[in-house]
Amino acid sequence: MSAFVVAVDGPAGSGKSSVSKAAARKLGFAYLDTGAAYRAVTWHVLHCGADLASESNIVATLDSFHYSCATDPDAVSFHVGDMDVSEAIRSAEVTSAVSTVARIPDVRSHVNAVFHHIMATTDRPGIIVEGRDITTVVAPHAPVRVLLTASEEARAARRAAESPATETANAELTAAALKARDSADAKVSEFMVAADGVTTLDSTHLSYDETIAALVGLIMAGTSDG
Ligand code: C5P
Repeated sequence: MSAFVVAVDGPAGSGKSSVSKAAARKLGFAYLDTGAAYRAVTWHVLHCGADLASESNIVATLDSFHYSCATDPDAVSFHVGDMDVSEAIRSAEVTSAVSTVARIPDVRSHVNAVFHHIMATTDRPGIIVEGRDITTVVAPHAPVRVLLTASEEARAARRAAESPATETANAELTAAALKARDSADAKVSEFMVAADGVTTLDSTHLSYDETIAALVGLIMAGTSDG
């Protein structure tokens, strides 16, 4: 039997990764962070020394991109070949290059094939897949599709609070970087406005626990519908 698929999209800093992971843990579902795959390709592209300005150089690195990831929400990890890149893919260098790599159609179709394989082979009863184009492109027929949003201020404040230094300058830099990444990404996928049939979950005035409970509630309602 195939897994029950939950598609979650949202902008940078909306909390979709931590919220989706926590909801998967509560439900005994698998968890797939698609942004991590785009980050891993970007890490690989940089590791290969490819020229970021050259689409064909980037595409040429895909042949040697052997990606795998663990989808247990309690033990998420990401590998390129034998190398554990779980930390490396969060570096500032990868974060600032990822939108450039992710907008290339060959990159997107390469990672989408990986996502479909993972969704089709998970041994859990369900899988929460989160990213930017999951509700629209990767799993448009998923029985539960959610756009997780939060105001720009709330997203920037949450991201700034995750880093050790929380001075104003840091918060401002974080806000500017998030905005720049979202506007680059928005040229590729629409994730600021819910597509038809997608439920918007606005977490601006919700605590972390309330947001998880709201997502779990939507999923439970979706499973009882089917
Ligand atoms: O979710 P995260 O911020 O880790 O995503 C990193 C980047 O991967 C995004 O900024 C975007 O460029 C790309 N991405 C994408 N489509 C997805 C998930 C992420 O283009 N489904």
